[in-house]
Amino acid sequence: MGTLLLVSCQEKSNQNANAENKTVDFNYSVERFADLEILRYQVPRFEGLTLQQKTLLYYLSQAAIEGRDILFDQNGKYNLRIRRTLEAVYQNYTGDTASADYKNMVTYLKRVWFSNGIHHHYATDKFIPAFSQDFFTSAVKSLEPSLLPLKNGESVDDLLAVIRPVIFNPNIDAKRVNQADGADLITTSANNYYDGVTQREAEEFYGKLKKTADSTPVSYGLNSRLTKENGQLVEKIWKIGGLYSPAIEKIVFWLEKAATVAENDKQKQVIETLVAYYKTGDLKKFDEYSILWVEDNSTVDFINGYIETYGDPLGLKGSWEAMTNFRNTEATRRTETISENAQWFEDHSPVDSRFKKETVQGITAKVITTVILGGDSYPATPIGINLPNANWIRALHGSKSVTLENITSAYDQAAKGNGFANEFYWSQREIDLAENYGFITDNMHTDLHECLGHASCKLLPGVDRDALKAYGSTIEEARADLFGLYYIADPKMIELCLLPNDSAYKAEYYKFMTNGLLTQLARIESGNNIEESHMRNRQLIASLALEKGAPDKVVELKQRDGKTYVLINDYAKLRTIFGEILQEVQRIRSEGDYVGARKLVETYGVTVNRKLHDEILARYKKLNLAPYKGFVNPVYEPVMDASGNITDIKISYREGYAEQMLRYSNEHSWLPNDN
Ligand code: ZN
Repeated sequence: MGTLLLVSCQEKSNQNANAENKTVDFNYSVERFADLEILRYQVPRFEGLTLQQKTLLYYLSQAAIEGRDILFDQNGKYNLRIRRTLEAVYQNYTGDTASADYKNMVTYLKRVWFSNGIHHHYATDKFIPAFSQDFFTSAVKSLEPSLLPLKNGESVDDLLAVIRPVIFNPNIDAKRVNQADGADLITTSANNYYDGVTQREAEEFYGKLKKTADSTPVSYGLNSRLTKENGQLVEKIWKIGGLYSPAIEKIVFWLEKAATVAENDKQKQVIETLVAYYKTGDLKKFDEYSILWVEDNSTVDFINGYIETYGDPLGLKGSWEAMTNFRNTEATRRTETISENAQWFEDHSPVDSRFKKETVQGITAKVITTVILGGDSYPATPIGINLPNANWIRALHGSKSVTLENITSAYDQAAKGNGFANEFYWSQREIDLAENYGFITDNMHTDLHECLGHASCKLLPGVDRDALKAYGSTIEEARADLFGLYYIADPKMIELCLLPNDSAYKAEYYKFMTNGLLTQLARIESGNNIEESHMRNRQLIASLALEKGAPDKVVELKQRDGKTYVLINDYAKLRTIFGEILQEVQRIRSEGDYVGARKLVETYGVTVNRKLHDEILARYKKLNLAPYKGFVNPVYEPVMDASGNITDIKISYREGYAEQMLRYSNEHSWLPNDN
C-alpha cells in the first residue's frame, strides 16, 4: 500500500508539475532591450469557455486597459506628457532614425512604457537617458506642434522647459519611492500621491483619521492625492467627477457591460459595487466591494482598482491595477489541498502560540489562467496575489490567494537552456534538482506564501497594522516567504501528495539561498543598495540564515575559479533555521516592534557587498540574460453577427511590444495633458 501510495503521489505531483509545462510551438520571447526581456504568455483553455464567460472576460479586459494613464500619472507628475512627447517623436520623426541618439531615445521610450513612467519599475531610480538634450530638443521641434501634448496656450518651448529638466537633470525627481532612513520620504519621492506636502504633515493628517476607535476602519488615503488648498490639507479623490475622471468613466463603461453578462447574481453585485465605488469614491463602498469579491467564487475573476501601496513610502496610496482571469480547475486542486489543511499548518508552525490564530478562516486558494494584465500588473506582473489588503476584512471574511500559473509557466519555458544554472549553481547535483523539481517547488512555495503565509497569525491586541511603517512590507513578505520555506520541507507535503519525494524541496532551498545571497543582485545597478521590499526580504532571510548556520557550516559561500557559489551542506538544519527566523519575524510583526524591524531589515536586507555585487553583475552580463521580464498581452477581438451580437471572442498572440504600447496609447488614453 505504502509503495502504491508513493507511486500515485509521484504521478499526481508530476502531473501538477507538467500540466502547464508542455513544450508546444510557441514563441515566448518577444524582444530584449536595456535590462528587460518582453515575453508572451499563452491562455490555455480560453477556447473551451462558454460564450458568456468569454464575453465577460472581454469586457473586464477592456476595463483593465482603460486605466493605464492613471498609473502613469500616479508614478510621476510629468510621466504622461513625457510619454506622449516621446511617442510623438517615435511615430512622426522624419530625421535620421539610424542615429545613435534616435535609437537610444527609442530604448528610453520602451523603458518608460515598461515602467509606466520615467523611473525604474523595481529600483525606482530615474532612468539616465543615453540620447542628448540637443537631439531631443531638435527632434521635438521638428514636429507639428499639434502632435505634441501641449496644454492650452502652451508653446513647444514651454513644454520643453517643463519636461526637459525632468528627463535630463539627475537631481530632479531622482527616485519614485524613496525609502532612505532619515529622509523626508514624501518630499524626496517623485510619485504623484502627495503634492506640496511633507512627510510629517501627511503622517499627522492620516494619524488623526486613524485614531478614531473603529474596528473596521476604511483604508485611509487609498484613493486620493493629498495636497494643499489655501494652506489646508485636502484629498483629491480619484473618482468619477474627481481626479482621473475621464479614465474612470471608460473603466466604468466596460464594467457596466460586464455586469450584464456576469456568471451569477453574486458576481453581478461585485461588479456593481465596484462601479458604485468608482462613482462615489467612498472607501466604505470599496470595503463592501472587497468583501463581496472575497466571497465570490465564480470561474471568471478580476482585479480592478487602487490596490497595492508599494509605490507610496507611507504605504497608504493604492496604485491602479487590473487583471482578468479564470480558474485553472486542475491545478487549483493543489492549492485547495493546502487550504483544506490550513489549520494544521497554523497549529504546527514554529511561532509563539500567542500569535497563532485559533481558527484560520476563509482562505480561498486558486490557480488561475491570466487573460489580461493592466495598470500596475503590466507589463511587469506578480506571479501570486493575495487580496484584499485590509486587515480586518482578512480577519473577518478571509482573503483570496491566486497563483498565475500561465505566467510562471511562460517564465519557465522562456528560461529553458539559458545557461543560468550552469553559471551560478555549485554542481550538477544542484542543476539536476532545479531541472527535476524547480518548476513544481517554485509554484509550491508561491502557493504556501500566498495561501497560508500572508494569512497566518495575528497582531496582538492594540497593535497598529502600520506600526512597522516603512519596514512593514519587507517584514510581511519575509513572514510569508519563511512560512513557505519552513513547510515546503515538511513531510506533510508528501503525505498530501503535493511533492513527489523528500528531496524535491531542496530545489527551492538552493534556489532561494542562491537568489537571496547572490543572483538577485543582478537586478541592481553597481553602487546601489537594495530598496524593493521583496528583494530586501529575500536577502534578509538568506544572509541571516547563512550567519546563523555558520558555526555548523549549514550553508557556505564557496569560491571556485574566482567565482562565488552557494553550497548547502545540511538541508534539514537549514529548515530549522528558517523556522527560527520565522519565529522572530512573526514576533516583530505581531508585537509591532518597529525598532526590531528596523534593525533586522537595515542589518541584513539593505546593504550590498560591493565586490560580490560586481562579480555577480559581470557573470550575469556574460549570460546576456535580462534581469527583469514583463509581458505583452494577447489581443481579444469580438466576432459579431449581422445584428451586432457577439458570437465569439477570438484570441491572438501576434502583437509586438511597441505595437501594443502604441495601440494602448492611441486608443485607450483618456487623461488630459493638464491633469
Ligand atoms: Zn507576498
